[in-house]
Amino acid sequence: MRFATKAIHAGVEPDPATGAIMTPVYLTSTYAQSAPGQHKGYEYSRSDHPTRAVLERNLASLEGVEYGLAFASGLAAENAVLSLLQPGDHVVATRDLYGGTYRLFERVWAKYGIEFSYADGDDLDALRRAFRPNTKLLWVETPSNPMLSIVDLRAVCELAHAHGALVVVDNTFATPYLQQPFEFGADIVVHSTTKYLGGHSDVVGGALCLRDRGLYEQLKFYQNAAGAVPGPLDCFLVLRGIKTLALRMERHCENARRIAEYLAQHPEVKQVRYPGLPTHPGHELACQQMRDFGGIVTMELHGGVERAMRFLSSTRLFTLAESLGGVESLMCHPATMTHASVPPEERARIGITDALIRLSVGVEDVEDLLEDLEQAIKKSR
Ligand SMILES: *Cc1c(COP(=O)(O)O)cnc(C)c1O
Repeated sequence: MRFATKAIHAGVEPDPATGAIMTPVYLTSTYAQSAPGQHKGYEYSRSDHPTRAVLERNLASLEGVEYGLAFASGLAAENAVLSLLQPGDHVVATRDLYGGTYRLFERVWAKYGIEFSYADGDDLDALRRAFRPNTKLLWVETPSNPMLSIVDLRAVCELAHAHGALVVVDNTFATPYLQQPFEFGADIVVHSTTKYLGGHSDVVGGALCLRDRGLYEQLKFYQNAAGAVPGPLDCFLVLRGIKTLALRMERHCENARRIAEYLAQHPEVKQVRYPGLPTHPGHELACQQMRDFGGIVTMELHGGVERAMRFLSSTRLFTLAESLGGVESLMCHPATMTHASVPPEERARIGITDALIRLSVGVEDVEDLLEDLEQAIKKSR
């Protein structure tokens, strides 16, 4: 099956009891047993759940691997990965990370004796230098959030494997429609299904995809033991969102490209970052490892932070809000919103200025989006 077909059908069968086409939302915490231990595969809904099982099979299929695990949020999925580590272990991460990931590393896991180092994801030498004998994981975001840097997945997987470390790729921005990290050697793929996979800003969820059975078993154990599982309705909403993933991503990419091109030629725009622009430093690499360039555009207007603030309150269609990847266009101010937990010096190193604006381009008619940006740029002068 090809991608758009898998998105609709993989792991999904008509309900054996009724023939229902849509996966039922099984609102049950427990299951009848005919004798102790005698049941139809389900005992208790933290351990296994039929709606969740369909979502897990579907996600694994989209990433082209055997195993999927769904969690209550993207961060819950990330937390499960970090549970693989022991005190004294070391993690190398690309510097430009989702702010919540950075917070989970530094404020939650660092105090249990896990060490974290950061290096620019597009600087292979810097990444290589960051490895130590106790490095167990390389954590990668590509395209990164919010700077949209592109990491050479094949090269970093080779580098990490040569050091005996596993590679974790946060594939939230690209989705499996645009990028398949396992093709390049990744060991674990992380998703916030809250974003493009769910696609409608109506659910918070996360997932892991895995090729290796041993890793799957360890993480499945943790999923049940720590218990950060998604509810049945959440699983249903993500599954329903995924059915239109291919369609939505095509439109997100098309709209984002138009907007990036418009901003790039605009005299009042100081900088635009979009991997689809030939001027983007990772453009060539993005052409090789991605099907298209995604729906996020980062920009800065001339006029500094005051101008940025006026712009953020001048749009009519783009709504100022956390999150991304929904059908509606959103924008955010990384320095005070998504990346507020990253210290100012670290933000400056990454390039997250106080005037930086991140656009999550939705699937509306692009002419309306362009008109909205134009009027907001004028109004913010
Ligand atoms: C949102 C996000 C997360 C965290 O996911 P939640 O579902 O909010 O817990 C992780 N990584 C990236 C790239 C994200 O955008």
